[in-house]
Amino acid sequence: PVATTPTRSDAEFWKIADSKLIRYGGSWSNVRVKSAKGAVMFDQNGKRILDWTSGQMSSVLGHGHPEICDVVDNYMRNLDHLFSAMVADPIVDLADALTKLTPPGLDRCMFLSTGSETNECALKLAKMYTGGHEIVSLSASYHGMTHGSGAATFSVGRKGYGPQLPGNFTLSVPYAYRSPFRHEDGSYDWQTELDYGWDLIDRQSCGALAAVIIEPIVSTGGIITLPPGYMKALKNHCEKRGMLLIVDEAQTGMGRTGDMFAFEHDGVVPDILTLSKTLGAGLPLGATICTAEIEQVCHDRGFFYYTTHLNDPLVCAVGAKVCEIVVRDNLKDEAARKGKVLKDGLLALQNKYPNIGDVRGRGLMLGIEIVEDHERKTPADALGTRISARCMELGLSCNVVQLVGMGGTFRIAPPLTITEDEIREGLAIMDKAFEECLAERANGV
Ligand code: PMP
Repeated sequence: PVATTPTRSDAEFWKIADSKLIRYGGSWSNVRVKSAKGAVMFDQNGKRILDWTSGQMSSVLGHGHPEICDVVDNYMRNLDHLFSAMVADPIVDLADALTKLTPPGLDRCMFLSTGSETNECALKLAKMYTGGHEIVSLSASYHGMTHGSGAATFSVGRKGYGPQLPGNFTLSVPYAYRSPFRHEDGSYDWQTELDYGWDLIDRQSCGALAAVIIEPIVSTGGIITLPPGYMKALKNHCEKRGMLLIVDEAQTGMGRTGDMFAFEHDGVVPDILTLSKTLGAGLPLGATICTAEIEQVCHDRGFFYYTTHLNDPLVCAVGAKVCEIVVRDNLKDEAARKGKVLKDGLLALQNKYPNIGDVRGRGLMLGIEIVEDHERKTPADALGTRISARCMELGLSCNVVQLVGMGGTFRIAPPLTITEDEIREGLAIMDKAFEECLAERANGV
């Protein structure tokens, strides 16, 4: 593995990290990462850490995929970035490759750098196309950090910046495990919850609803899978009301859930699809994809949206290669197959530990929620944080999210190229971490 900054001592490294970086809102992990390859990272001392987060829930190909390295090397040397009005082969190649993967209708692409930008673009298209400005998203949503995408993000980051964009409304996330609309027998009346939500929105709306934006699996909100029929109900509602359905597949796209795009599982075609993290194999690349009709109407009305890195050839070449590899190596089926191995392992851990209240998700996008016990489901946030820290010490990186009223939820989304041995290795580490942390707690440590 190649060292990053080998000359600095750990003490100096942390001193600079702690005093020179703007903190993002949380605290830094105490690992000084040196290199990464496939599903594995190495710290400064050569310790091996399995990466069950694919970076920030991003690359489906793992770190440093050799074919991606070649594309980056070639395009950096020969054709990296262009003025935004120019086109080149990799841009057209990616548009062609992606629209062969999307269902008919989703035909027009714009390539940007981040998920926030793709959603900002999608929201602007929806506003211009419908003439409305009001946006609906879920209460545990995450769609980005820019002003429009941030206003549609209800899970984190809303406080302290003055008024959010007006006209952003929220539906309660359909959280089958804890919803107040869950019955004693475990059945879940999400339709009544949704009707109730629309009723509240209609009371607040000024009659200018433009779009619903939704993730098919709500990731930052705790890997919440939508109940069967939920996305279809949203789509029907949008059609009736002249609204658009925007599906944000930043994390779920490119095979991660066992389908090429997770909306396929719900039997729904969105009006606008956004892709980012999983499309770029670790590089900043996103796509907003819409119907030809939306593109035409918005163009005629003066749609204007570009960034410095619009349609950059280098990252588009990477995206085209990602499409090729995902199809060639059948990675969506691999995600389904390996996802079953991982989920079976997590279910076995749930059998062993009453503190795993719920196992959810699809393909290689899974979550486990940490509770005090299976019956009362009391959230056990501190325990979740402790177990994830212990996992990291033992060589497994997984992310834990905590929202109000929810036990700490592990988000598990390894690269689709992970091996079954690496899955079993991670499960064994998790088992050990649970055992040790529960013993520690029982002993009052
Ligand atoms: N949408 C979803 C579903 C995301 O998870 C994220 C990032 N966590 C974003 C959008 C924003 O993407 P970015 O951080 O690349 O702006």
